Amino acid sequence: MPTTYDAIVIGAGISGLYSTYRLRERGLSVHGFEAGSDVGGTWYWNRYPGCRFDSESYTYQYSFSKELFEEWQWSEHFASQPEIERYVHYVADKFDLKRHYDFDARVKTVHFDDADRMWTVTAEDGRSARARFIVAGTGLLSAFQLPDYPGVHDFAGLTVHTARWPKEGIDVSGKRVGIIGSGPTAVQVIQSIAPEVGHLTVFQRTANWCTPLRNRPITAEEQRDLTAHAAEIIDHCKQTFAGFMHDMDPRASTEVASKEERWAKYQDLYERGGFALWFANYNDLFTNRAFAEEVSEFLAEKIRQRVKDPATAEKLIPKNHPYGTKRPPGEKDFYEAFNRDNVDLVDLRATPISRITAAGVETSEQLYELDILIYATGFQSLTGELLRIDIRGEGGLALADKWADGPRTNLGVQFAGFPNFFATMGPHHPATFCNITRCAETTVDWIVDCIDYIRAHGYTSIQPTPEAEEAWTRHCYDSSKGLIIDEMRDSWFFGNNNPENKGVPRFLLWAGSVSEFHQVYRDVAAAGYRGFEFR
Ligand code: NAP
Repeated sequence: MPTTYDAIVIGAGISGLYSTYRLRERGLSVHGFEAGSDVGGTWYWNRYPGCRFDSESYTYQYSFSKELFEEWQWSEHFASQPEIERYVHYVADKFDLKRHYDFDARVKTVHFDDADRMWTVTAEDGRSARARFIVAGTGLLSAFQLPDYPGVHDFAGLTVHTARWPKEGIDVSGKRVGIIGSGPTAVQVIQSIAPEVGHLTVFQRTANWCTPLRNRPITAEEQRDLTAHAAEIIDHCKQTFAGFMHDMDPRASTEVASKEERWAKYQDLYERGGFALWFANYNDLFTNRAFAEEVSEFLAEKIRQRVKDPATAEKLIPKNHPYGTKRPPGEKDFYEAFNRDNVDLVDLRATPISRITAAGVETSEQLYELDILIYATGFQSLTGELLRIDIRGEGGLALADKWADGPRTNLGVQFAGFPNFFATMGPHHPATFCNITRCAETTVDWIVDCIDYIRAHGYTSIQPTPEAEEAWTRHCYDSSKGLIIDEMRDSWFFGNNNPENKGVPRFLLWAGSVSEFHQVYRDVAAAGYRGFEFR
């Protein structure tokens, strides 16, 4: 018989570890299952070359412990994966969280028992546990995907997805390397390995608007200041549009009559780095197409200045979406990589991939022979992490059936028919724009308070009312309307990037500000969890 706990947490990433910490703090017995062999989640799996934050390190860190602020010092403004992984270990060790977990335990099934209203979680290797409450800290960009090209498993050389980069690394020196993809992950890989490889072929379907990250070491003086103001920085982030330290300009672009003045601002934000151009710009960036196109024109000029070959520069300038409609990659020397003799760019819109062969990648034009093939082809975002687990609620209802026409949630945290099952980073969450830890902490705090409420009132379970779920789901699907991101339906925001997602692309997130989302949570809880029913 599996051991019974009060709560089971799935995942030992940023939100899973925090859930475990908080639930234990409230006196619940907790057990965790983690597919990786250690803690870290995203920062455990994504160990590809160049992987680092696009949030300023000190805005991404946990905010629940003053001691952590004082003890941990980031070495760079945008820390790299090894440092982030060390941080997650530091937190897990400091708060003694690892002992609650089964590692190397990928969850296969999560089944609800109608008779005793308990959940049973079983890992692929048969390890199992039962609990009243489930918290799925399974992430939003974890279910990695390969393209559905013919022969995708036929390549005789080394194939690797960026989200499964081996711990021992890959020796790319002198090798013929191909990379499929040009999103934020691919950008980090390309700029990092270009100087090392023998030859790099970049297979690009859609160009992206990349902006300089401007990473640099944190000086001793900066560190003193950051430590002294750590809590204020986090408080500030909680008030901003996206949970970053950047604040949208209170003016709309239309209020600034002079193009020179607007252009000077873009230049200033471009120099500032991080997501400044996205989140510190005039406040109509997400609603005013003409303005987004002007920022795109500014960036196209930069690309033309930085890439020597005009034909290559044109390929690297996005033609099907203006700036800001997808999450913009942060870069350093990305465009300059294409000035190297050992780097080529293949435009898949002009010459599509016809198949993967034992020798390499075959397009409509030619075969590219390779030693290593890297897939930086993203994730079945938001839903994949949950749908790849066999989750069954009341009456054996499968989550996959419930979500056959797209996800249905209330506040992104609960699904009708799945009592006491909570998701920390599921669909219908504001993560379109969010600085993840800022959103994750708020969601976990809400879940843990809700569980406290259930126990304090002698209830056994909570789940959304069908009406509230319908209203929230509709609200989320509609939330992208009127925003220019709604025109760019090929991104992971819409799940349209995944061959397994069938039907009409639907907006999978919630397109409001992070601070508004926090207010929604507070209001619902203050109204006795309006839209949820207790038993
Ligand atoms: P992504 O943004 O979804 O990009 C996937 C790339 O693969 C796109 O260029 C896509 O092209 C391409 N692709 C997919 N299927 C393809 C196919 N069949 N043929 C050719 N190309 C194909 O994934 P990602 O780059 O891993 O980034 C996902 C998200 O993770 C980011 O938006 C960001 O939020 C986060 N991230 C953050 C950081 C950081 O700095 N902290 C780093 C990496 C990622 P199309 O655009 O044409 O579909």
